[in-house]
Amino acid sequence: MEATQGKIYQETDEKYLWHSMRGAGPSPANLIITKAAGAWVTDINGKSYLDGMSGLWCVNVGYGRKELARAAFEQLEEMPYYPLTQSHLPAIKLAEKLNEWLGDDYVIFFSNSGSEANETAFKIARQYHHQKGSPGRYKFISRYRAYHGNTMGALAATGQAQRKYKYEPLGQGFLHVAPPDLYRNPADQETLASAEEINRIMTWELSETIAGVIMEPIITGGGILMPPDGYMARVKEICEEHGALLICDEVISGFGRTGKPFGFMNYGVKPDIVTMAKGITSAYLPLSATAVKREIYEVYMGSEDYDRFRHVNTFGGNPAACALALKNLEIMENENLVERSRVLGERLLEELAELIEHPNVGDVRGKGLLVGIELVRDKTTKEPAPVEQVNKVVALCREKGLLIGKNGDTVAGYNNILQLSPPLSITEDDFYFIVKCLKESILNLN
Ligand code: PMP
Repeated sequence: MEATQGKIYQETDEKYLWHSMRGAGPSPANLIITKAAGAWVTDINGKSYLDGMSGLWCVNVGYGRKELARAAFEQLEEMPYYPLTQSHLPAIKLAEKLNEWLGDDYVIFFSNSGSEANETAFKIARQYHHQKGSPGRYKFISRYRAYHGNTMGALAATGQAQRKYKYEPLGQGFLHVAPPDLYRNPADQETLASAEEINRIMTWELSETIAGVIMEPIITGGGILMPPDGYMARVKEICEEHGALLICDEVISGFGRTGKPFGFMNYGVKPDIVTMAKGITSAYLPLSATAVKREIYEVYMGSEDYDRFRHVNTFGGNPAACALALKNLEIMENENLVERSRVLGERLLEELAELIEHPNVGDVRGKGLLVGIELVRDKTTKEPAPVEQVNKVVALCREKGLLIGKNGDTVAGYNNILQLSPPLSITEDDFYFIVKCLKESILNLN
């Protein structure tokens, strides 16, 4: 596109579009992306970037998959819409396929976004307790620094004050505990104190008031915070001891991101409810799901009026989105992308290990193609690096043609973690390009 045309679109963009996470006034020029293929996106001025974040952690099979477009097109021609108050074939087939991926007996409720999948999970959990004769169980426990969505319940579960305080009061009954932070508290590996805190809060709040716990297996957007071995298993045990449900938010960590079909599978637990979005369609169309263990679903059997789940989602489980999701999962299976994520993730951590030699790199960690690099001012105190330094690395990478992310927990003082979450389909060349850009940008940092 001509430079002048590009400039006009940029001005029109600035005039009319309210972007995510932005206010009015001057901000860095938006990348207006016009083309994308594989792991690469190209902007309106013709410059290409390797998308090291898969958009917003979601384009798991990479861009430009014509067979996904075709699957949606064919379904739109055949039968574009029918609500899931009744049924249709793509939703039936996808629900069955998701069960295969989950490796256990779950019943699936479809929505459109990660936030809605979590809202649905909260409602299902509360009503479950109601119908089991414990209507007082309404509280949910989640972790500080985690993100669970932008709606009033999912935001209430979110543990990042800067995203919340101007919109309060949010949904009621959400409590938070500190997440594991093995970099700063390595002893947690032995004591599992961060899990025991959940035990304590359930006791102190009274078990009879607790509906459940929601957690990502690995906190993603909040800074790639890995759980100690045994943490999730202990949390599940604590939930069982107190009669609470364990909800796993797999919105990012699902569909191969951590080198397993779902993130919880790294930790040997079986959640009661699993929420998923993003990678389910590799973000080609909106779709999300709340997978619920059959025992929970069965509590909803009974008289039509009082015992059913009074929750409807007009667009949830759109036939084209479901047909596309099925094709997306077929691609992941045929190309072995889950295992590829595991193997490449291990190699990536090996390649990036030398970054730790830099005085401002405190920690490099991750699982599968999900990596965090924690920058610190000082390795002894582990004080987070100033955000300017973090922004500098992001800008340097962008100059070199690699897009990476960073966390932004300004209230807690943690906006010092670089994040990487590329498509699981990256080529060998892409892999080494990522390694090269990161090394050049970080090792020369001062
Ligand atoms: N949970 C997690 C872990 C997420 O990362 C996100 C989005 N980044 C959500 C929930 C909310 O998903 P959505 O933006 O699709 O509503």
